[in-house]
Amino acid sequence: MNAYIITVGDELVSGFVLDTNSAYLAGRLADAGITVSRKTSVRDRPEEIAAEIDAALASADLVFLTGGLGPTHDDCTKHAICISFGAELVTSEDILRRVRERYESRGMEMPELSRALALVPEGAGLLPNPLGSAVGLRMSRGRSTLYVLPGVPGEMKAIFEGSIGPGLLELEGRACIKTRILRTTGLSESRISDMLEPVAGGLQVSLAYLPNPMGVVLRLTAMEDSEAAAGQVLGRATAGIRTVLGDRLYSEEGQDLHMVVGGLLLETQKTISVAESCTGGLIGHLLTEVPGISSRFMEGITAYSNRAKIRDLGVNREIIESFGAV
Ligand code: AMP
Ligand code: MG
Repeated sequence: MNAYIITVGDELVSGFVLDTNSAYLAGRLADAGITVSRKTSVRDRPEEIAAEIDAALASADLVFLTGGLGPTHDDCTKHAICISFGAELVTSEDILRRVRERYESRGMEMPELSRALALVPEGAGLLPNPLGSAVGLRMSRGRSTLYVLPGVPGEMKAIFEGSIGPGLLELEGRACIKTRILRTTGLSESRISDMLEPVAGGLQVSLAYLPNPMGVVLRLTAMEDSEAAAGQVLGRATAGIRTVLGDRLYSEEGQDLHMVVGGLLLETQKTISVAESCTGGLIGHLLTEVPGISSRFMEGITAYSNRAKIRDLGVNREIIESFGAV
């Protein structure tokens, strides 16, 4: 079973607002064992949104669309749904009454523009919005279902968790998706890829390389019929990678490097001191985050100037003069 996520808004396509809705939905769908096959962002143009809805419904079982449900002129998602489904917009008296009541409860008169909130494509199922006025919509085409949610992240989540999430666990064709984070240090992404080449074919997991300044993180994802089977596949893949990477693989539970180093110091009863320059005390700071480290971490010196390097750390002056501090 697969899903397709569409986010709508000029501000998303231009990069002015970061699209967090699709990240949230993808995470929740993965939790439910549903693979997201594609995510796209489209501008506030009815024809472009309608074309995207058509493409999504043709290729996925579940389509999630967020944004453009509000009453202002740039909100055109419902119009796009009508283009895609050949439907008309009809006024839901129920929604209209509730929108009017929301205004009246705050002592205000409903602006004429807000009538647009009560317009829904005919045939749409309505998903209540506990936090706002724009209700979510559900439409079907063939065996595919389209869910339409507001762009405001809090409202999107509230409707998803209230009306959609619980039902996902009952869908047939779901898989069990499990992930594991492996952390490495001292090897580049391409070096790891070369080293894993001989075993990669047999791993049965999808492998993502996520480099960051501290090292390359490997994210393993297993998709199987049951939790136990996915766990076994992850275990076998981790063992295979461990054999190849050796101690460059320092954590199989997603722990940070300083936590692993601190744990080893405690286990082996060794002490540590650090002399740092351009890291400005960062290594010492990270080590002090390890619970119980006070018996193992002796001191840290940040010797930033050449004078401090020579005076406090005993670095030979001639070396610095000939080669520079770095
Ligand atoms: P809309 O429903 O399109 O009127 O959007 C309402 C608000 O939610 C605006 O401030 C948008 O910038 C924000 N928003 C819309 N889509 C997203 C998204 N995918 N991720 C994060 N914020 C969004
Ligand atoms: Mg918008």
